[in-house]
Amino acid sequence: MSNIPKLIINNFFFIFFSSYFLIGQEPKPIKAGVAPTNYDYQGNLDAIHYNLEIGLGKKTELIEAKVSIKSVLTKNNPIMRLDFTGLKVDSLLIDGIVSSYTYKDGIIEKKLNGYNYGDTIIITIGYSGKADDGLIIGKNIHGNQTIFVDNWPNRTRFWLPSIDHPSDKATVNYYIHAPKEWKVIANGYLLREPIKTLNDAIGPKEDRLTWSWRTKVPIPTYNMVIGAADLEIHKVGLAACGKAPNSVREDGCIEVTYWVYPEDVENAKLSFKRAGKIVDYFTDLIGPFPYEKLANVQSSTRFGGMENASAIFYSEKAISEGKNIEGTVSHEIAHQWFGDAVTESNWHHLWLSEGFATYFGALFFENADGKKSFNKKMQNSLNRVINSKVSNRPIIDYQEKDLFKLLNSNNYPKGGWVLHMLRGYLGDQIFFEGIREYYKTYVHKSVLTKQFQKIMEDVSEESLEWFFEQWVFNPGYPRFLYEETWDSIADSNGTLNIKITQMQKSEWPIFQIPTEICWSNECKKINLGKKINYFKFDFDQKPLVTGIIDPKGWILKEIVN
Ligand SMILES: [Zn+2]
Repeated sequence: MSNIPKLIINNFFFIFFSSYFLIGQEPKPIKAGVAPTNYDYQGNLDAIHYNLEIGLGKKTELIEAKVSIKSVLTKNNPIMRLDFTGLKVDSLLIDGIVSSYTYKDGIIEKKLNGYNYGDTIIITIGYSGKADDGLIIGKNIHGNQTIFVDNWPNRTRFWLPSIDHPSDKATVNYYIHAPKEWKVIANGYLLREPIKTLNDAIGPKEDRLTWSWRTKVPIPTYNMVIGAADLEIHKVGLAACGKAPNSVREDGCIEVTYWVYPEDVENAKLSFKRAGKIVDYFTDLIGPFPYEKLANVQSSTRFGGMENASAIFYSEKAISEGKNIEGTVSHEIAHQWFGDAVTESNWHHLWLSEGFATYFGALFFENADGKKSFNKKMQNSLNRVINSKVSNRPIIDYQEKDLFKLLNSNNYPKGGWVLHMLRGYLGDQIFFEGIREYYKTYVHKSVLTKQFQKIMEDVSEESLEWFFEQWVFNPGYPRFLYEETWDSIADSNGTLNIKITQMQKSEWPIFQIPTEICWSNECKKINLGKKINYFKFDFDQKPLVTGIIDPKGWILKEIVN
């Protein structure tokens, strides 16, 4: 056989039998970001591992892919339900046998009669078409073609059949066939250097390389990403040495890199230069770095940054403009521990991810640049809470059905303040011991707020029900009116009568606030727990200044006149 007839046959096959030109058969996609009504999500099977092969091209928006999903059944005669939408299903096999299924409203469904609880099955799905979301193909800020995945909250299903829910983590192997000029990033570690793609590999028939990435530990589906573009890879350095159990390096360190468009290499330097220091700081403060490496990638994400496990994607624009986005870098790196490695079991507990990343992201600056830099960040957070449009909603807001709307000032700055207040109440030693215990207990698992509360209660040996109830499950924050009057007793000594009123809306709780009032250097401990709180303190001399509630700034509050 010569090359020419083969080419003709290939083209013939390509046009008439491959799915490439059958876009008409792709179903209409469902709406992204709708909260599921059932929290035992697709509770008939537990996805353990995804083995994904995907073919990408430079000259097409069409993809072709095949995924094998290893799952453990959690019911007898279960109903398999996988999230998938907008792309065409070409084939479905269960344990290697072609199987019937239904595919509608964003779900691939199949009743698995004769299967039992605990059985392991392999579901293999071939699919193709143009992804409506999740896998974003288009021109970057410099006009060059790029492909980047952007999943949050539940847009993985637009390009990867999956149990697309943060409660079901799994490991992933990626085999990505992409144009040979491109660099390809994904979660995990690079199994080997990219190799020339076989001619009969799936996807567009361009000159391609095959990149193999795999994760050693399970990650949430919203973290499962690939990126393929003209990127330059730069090393920041090694980090977490001896404290990265999933490192594939002999020295036990992880490599910290940044992957940016060639045009933006200079502009990116400033933002990533301390990325290794940030990793080291969190490793020492929280616990071992959870993943195999850390790549910081310039991308087309719609978010400022997206914390994808071991492959953080950043918005291309800010980097391209030469902005220092170190605040975002610190936030996204903090997510590797909180959000990625310890994941909220459902989206409504998002503060376990975003509140933690907001607070720990700021803590890096407290450690590296001093208290002033940290205080400024906390003050900015406080202002965001006070000016918030969602003050009348609690942090955990089951009423909110639009998951994108959970990206609000309750889950971010208020969530961060909840941790700051807990630290202020418990003290640094107990607070950070609790944080380390929480991370150690739940690394690579998914959690709810109650589980975090329980760990902090165990470590502090006290009930924190009042604290979590008022701050996480109820709306608002205290607004204090402070009044004091002086009663002289003798020549100079006397009594200061203090009245502190909680002025917040009646729909918000009356807050329990253990705190202090200070007059210059003299402080008195108080406990604010009523709508109107009275205190009397005897002084040898009338204080020269008016008292200040919580002068060290541990409490999320507003002082009103
Ligand atoms: Zn975040």
